[in-house]
Amino acid sequence: MADLGNISNTKRVLEKYGFNFQKKFGQNFLIDANVLENIVDGAGITSDDVVLEIGPGIGTMTQYLCERAGFVICVEIDKNLIPILEDTLMDYENKEIINADVLDLDLNELAVRYNGGSPIKVVANLPYYITTPIIMGLLESHVPLKSITIMIQKEVADRMQAGPGTKDYGALSLAVQYYTLPEVLTTVSANCFMPRPNVDSSVIRLTLHEDNPTKVKDEELMFKLIRASFNQRRKTLVNGLTNAGLSGIGKDEVLKALEEMELSATVRGEALTLEQFARLSDLLM
Ligand code: SAM
Repeated sequence: MADLGNISNTKRVLEKYGFNFQKKFGQNFLIDANVLENIVDGAGITSDDVVLEIGPGIGTMTQYLCERAGFVICVEIDKNLIPILEDTLMDYENKEIINADVLDLDLNELAVRYNGGSPIKVVANLPYYITTPIIMGLLESHVPLKSITIMIQKEVADRMQAGPGTKDYGALSLAVQYYTLPEVLTTVSANCFMPRPNVDSSVIRLTLHEDNPTKVKDEELMFKLIRASFNQRRKTLVNGLTNAGLSGIGKDEVLKALEEMELSATVRGEALTLEQFARLSDLLM
């Protein structure tokens, strides 16, 4: 089958099947071979890898993945794309096409079925309307993963990489950085997609920590504190946490913990590092 990184081949496939783009599924297909190579290179795919591709579309990036990976699991929600994928990927034996909503799938079970429970790699040009639920679902369900290399909205990639005291820093930055090392690999122009999206895009690689450098006794409590601090971003940490009504965590407890951490009573949550949130959580247990 012809290389779909070439726009004329993509147009030919779309015409052959009379395919209509569905906005509700965030369908913006890649049409630039250099970008496709960069993503697959950035993910460091080798024949040892089992890859999960979320939203293969007409199979453009899947072709590049099948050339390099040991096996590719493709999960596509749009049933109209399944016959197209069976056609564009017919030359490859090392793939499975699954017609499902990725948010409904048990990805731990997929990792067991296709890789004996060993870590897999996720590679995707994600539908932008559900980037955060997909990423948080992957991280929080502890699916065995080596890395997640994804095309996402540039603004969201910036938030994932942001540090304390910046406007982009928030609960998403802390969650992503707790589980992974995020690295923005490149930014991608809207011209590399069909149809063009209204936003700029970035490719970001999230490498899962093998041994988590952030030690915290109660992960769930730490994330409750993080969410409560950023829900009321302009308030002091003391007020933010006190207003959240978390059981056993009142003003006095928070002030005492801050004093122990040698932080000001008027500090805001957005000034704290991940390690400081972990320490705060341990002190408030
Ligand atoms: N990978 C293709 C490419 O790069 O050209 C298509 C990328 S397009 C941005 C996103 C793809 O995700 C579409 O094919 C869309 O139908 C699919 N999709 C959207 N929501 C999904 C979901 N919940 N589960 C699985 N696939 C989904």
